[in-house]
Amino acid sequence: MLQRLTKIKKGAIKFKLYDKSTIPYLQSTTLAESGLVDHGFSTRIGGCSTGSTASLNTAFHTEDSTENVLENRRRFFDIFNYDYRKIVSAIQVHGTDLAVFDSSNHGEGAFPDSTRRECDVLVTTEKGLPLAAYSADCVLIYIVSTEKPLVVLAHAGWRGTLGEIGPKVIAFIDNQYGVRPENLLVALSPAICRDCYQVDADTASKFASAGWNEQPYMETQADGTCKIDLKEMNRSQLHRCGVEKDKLDYSSLCTSCNKELFYSYRRDLGHTGRMIGFAALKL
Ligand SMILES: [Zn+2]
Repeated sequence: MLQRLTKIKKGAIKFKLYDKSTIPYLQSTTLAESGLVDHGFSTRIGGCSTGSTASLNTAFHTEDSTENVLENRRRFFDIFNYDYRKIVSAIQVHGTDLAVFDSSNHGEGAFPDSTRRECDVLVTTEKGLPLAAYSADCVLIYIVSTEKPLVVLAHAGWRGTLGEIGPKVIAFIDNQYGVRPENLLVALSPAICRDCYQVDADTASKFASAGWNEQPYMETQADGTCKIDLKEMNRSQLHRCGVEKDKLDYSSLCTSCNKELFYSYRRDLGHTGRMIGFAALKL
């Protein structure tokens, strides 16, 4: 296992895999070096879940028990010294709506019966408030302001990407907080790669209509289906609206290609767990 992890680590681009402990995790180099946020992205290794969700499943909306999910979250957040009972997350609906959270929201989303909002973008200016999102193929987008305390965690699948979730967040940050895109640090989590992500002709035509019909974003197959690259599209959108190239880290790791390391909704035909991404402004 360790040999394999070391081998694929070379493919990661400034989003490093730390695999020395029993709970491996990934971090963006740029975000870590900024000293502004605590953050991480989990793997499937080191948890207590079994079967289709083995082993570090962190989401309730799976074939796993609540007890296992909470224990796995505890193990993951213990690495970073955060209380898993105080994390904030939402019901992810593949949209582009956002919600702003403050200290009154600690724990919103930490338990199955917690109040949770339906949205795919979490925003906070509150220090020490851990925002959390879940994925198994989708891209998690971490955004940190170097201008004033502000962190965003967004979840982008194909619908969010087509809906321009990145540019919408950047515009919101600018309008609401006066933070310019050149003062943002961004990181994109591991997600499904283009070779593994085939969409039907109807979905492909939606992307083509939006102007993505070219390499490296799309690759049309002979049968009319299409392979799409979510990470490249999100990178392109973020750069287009002013995020500087050397301030955007991304992981080249594919969630579907790396079965030992990640859950993949596509590869596992929906019978799978979820990784967790979190970000919190340092106290
Ligand atoms: Zn792949």
